[in-house]
Parts: sequence; C-alpha cells; structure tokens
Amino acid sequence: MRAVLATGNAGKLRELRALLAGRGVDLEPQSAFGIDPPPETGTSFVANALLKARHAAHLTGLPAIADDSGIEVDALGGRPGVHSARFAGEGAGDEANLRRLLGELSAVPDARRSARYRCVIVFVRSHEDSRPVIADGTWEGRIARAPRGTGGFGYDPVFEVPGTGRTAAELEPAEKNALGHRGQALRALLTELDAKGILYRP
Ligand code: IMP
Repeated sequence: MRAVLATGNAGKLRELRALLAGRGVDLEPQSAFGIDPPPETGTSFVANALLKARHAAHLTGLPAIADDSGIEVDALGGRPGVHSARFAGEGAGDEANLRRLLGELSAVPDARRSARYRCVIVFVRSHEDSRPVIADGTWEGRIARAPRGTGGFGYDPVFEVPGTGRTAAELEPAEKNALGHRGQALRALLTELDAKGILYRP
C-alpha cells in the first residue's frame, strides 16, 4: 500500500520507515509531493494528527499517516505538550527548544524532573475518512541537567530513560524504536490496521 507520511521531520520519517519495513507500506514523505504542513491549530495531539493527515490525504489523493507528539514535563504542569516543536518560539529549532527547557528547569531538583513523551498516530483512508484509525504511545523518563548523546532528535539529549543510565540520544535507533512513544504508537496502529484488514499481513 502506498501512503503519504504527513511530516517534514526527517527524524520521524527515519523512525517510522524503520518500523514499517516489511509491512507492505510504501511510505512517502509529504515533501516528495511539495506539500507544506498546515498550521497546527488543534489543542490536543489527536486533533493535530488528524488535521495533518487529512491535509496530506486531500492534496495527494492517497491514504495518509500522521503523528503528533511532544513532551510533558510535570514540574511545568505538562508544558510544553502540544507546543513542544515551538517551545522557544515559532520556527525555533531543537537546540533552542532544549535550552529553554533546561532554563525553565534550572531550579528544579532531581526528584521533581519527571516527564513523558507522548505520541498519537493516525491513519486516514482519505481526507473525508469518518472512521480514522487512532493509536497512541507514552514513554516515561526524566529531564537531565545537561544534554548527552548525538542520536535521535528534539529533546532526546536531555530525556533520561529509566533503568538505562542513558538519554534517548545515547540509545541505538533500534533501542529507541523498541522503547519509545512513537514505536509503541505505531505498533498499536499496525495491530489496528491488521485487525481491520487494511494492511497486508507478512
Ligand atoms: P510535532 O511535529 O508537532 O509532532 O512536534 C513534536 C515535537 O515534540 C518535536 O519537534 C520535538 O520537539 C518533540 N518530540 C516529539 N517526539 C520526540 C522524540 O522522539 N524525541 C525528541 N523530541 C521529540
């Protein structure tokens, strides 16, 4: 099945392609069709994922997969959440977002630095699909005091993975996919797509 992935994020494309390998899904990024992302005006991960998927499906005529994700930090009352990609301002990069997070947490003691990544992934057969398939994943961790590691993207260099002594940026890509929020959400989505007979079974 050919489908469009409604993201411009190279890190996400890499992770999702690795997870879909061998599942009969030929995933093309929306950039291959010259599509720009729509404004993320939703107030929840589900709303934003659906908005992105419907936009890409509309412009390509293909089924679409989209994810919306972010990090929730308990000491910040769950911020930045759906605003994770633009925490340091519209168009801010990973580095600036991460610096802002460390800045806001500078006075927060180790015992109160808990956080979690969340990811919602949706599949729509078309832009008008009234029965979208929706799945999610959560990854619990803590925010380190300084960045470590070069893998992953976004907040990974400060996201400490319990029981590993490493940040998400210090994990091998396969380890991150096995443990992470996006891997969990995508595996749940694949199970749903299988159950509904939408996906080819290997
Ligand atoms: P989205 O493209 O609106 O889903 O933005 C998600 C944002 O959340 C990203 O730009 C990152 O800042 C953050 N984020 C989501 N998933 C991850 C991850 O796996 N690692 C690091 N940061 C992530």
